[in-house]
Amino acid sequence: MAASMCDVFSFCVGVAGGARGAVEVRFVSSAKLIRKGETIFIERPLVASQFLWNALYRYRACDHCLRALEKAEENAQRLTGKPGQVLPYPELCTVRKDLHQHCPHCQVMYCSAECRLAAAEQYHRILCPGPSQDDPQHPLNKLQEAWRSVHYPPETASIMLMARMVATVKQAKDKDHWVRLFSQFCSKTANEEEEIVHKLLGDKFKGQLELLRRLFTEALYEETLSQWFTPDGFRSLFALVGTNGQGIGTSSLSQWVHACDALELKPQDREKLDTFIDQLYKDIEAATGEFLNCEGSGLFVLQSC
Ligand SMILES: [Zn+2]
Ligand SMILES: [Zn+2]
Repeated sequence: MAASMCDVFSFCVGVAGGARGAVEVRFVSSAKLIRKGETIFIERPLVASQFLWNALYRYRACDHCLRALEKAEENAQRLTGKPGQVLPYPELCTVRKDLHQHCPHCQVMYCSAECRLAAAEQYHRILCPGPSQDDPQHPLNKLQEAWRSVHYPPETASIMLMARMVATVKQAKDKDHWVRLFSQFCSKTANEEEEIVHKLLGDKFKGQLELLRRLFTEALYEETLSQWFTPDGFRSLFALVGTNGQGIGTSSLSQWVHACDALELKPQDREKLDTFIDQLYKDIEAATGEFLNCEGSGLFVLQSC
């Protein structure tokens, strides 16, 4: 598979880096000492999806692997609100716009032909809205709108991760294989599930869960998964994603900064570059606050609870 996928996912499974990184790790036990920043293992998620507000706010990411699509400089311009912001050492940006591709039917963007094909192969044929991508009456747009109206930033989950699970099974020749893979994730008691749903949807969670279930069924019903569409089954699916979904964060700017940190420079050039980067982060903080990365979540078999 494409090396680019590995880069992105090593980013989300590495040992947490400095304050500038966007890395999440759950449990790691190892017989040897692990250095800060070291990659322990690389795992591709079964499914992943960008958070919906994050996407709406123009954090442009590959629809399949969540790799950032903006060049580091464009990213800095948007996050600082300064269209004239220029970055030194532009050659350190790893974004390859010449490789980007879009779905010819709905125009959703991918970082590479590999990601476009992998998405089409696994789930996108079912989920592709075609020319209805901006139609508010399209069942998937209604579902996403309802989700955004109950789950605000800072986001921790997306209904589209569940949609991709269903679409994956719907599209698969060997449906049992995928159902078995998804059933490995840990399940909870009914009470624990309610708590998780409460946490994600707030106090009016029961009515909201029912509304989401209705829209989810309208958009995606699948006979072989009929249990996921019942009130109890939907709550369990919801809790599964809430419990097992791992955060994924990507940023072309952050990768550019890491590449800058690794440059061998004369002391005065190093100082100049570090001062520049510190000021850049101050400007971003002032303009955008804490939301720096393309963010989403995914289901990882090895990293599940
Ligand atoms: Zn990609
Ligand atoms: Zn499409």
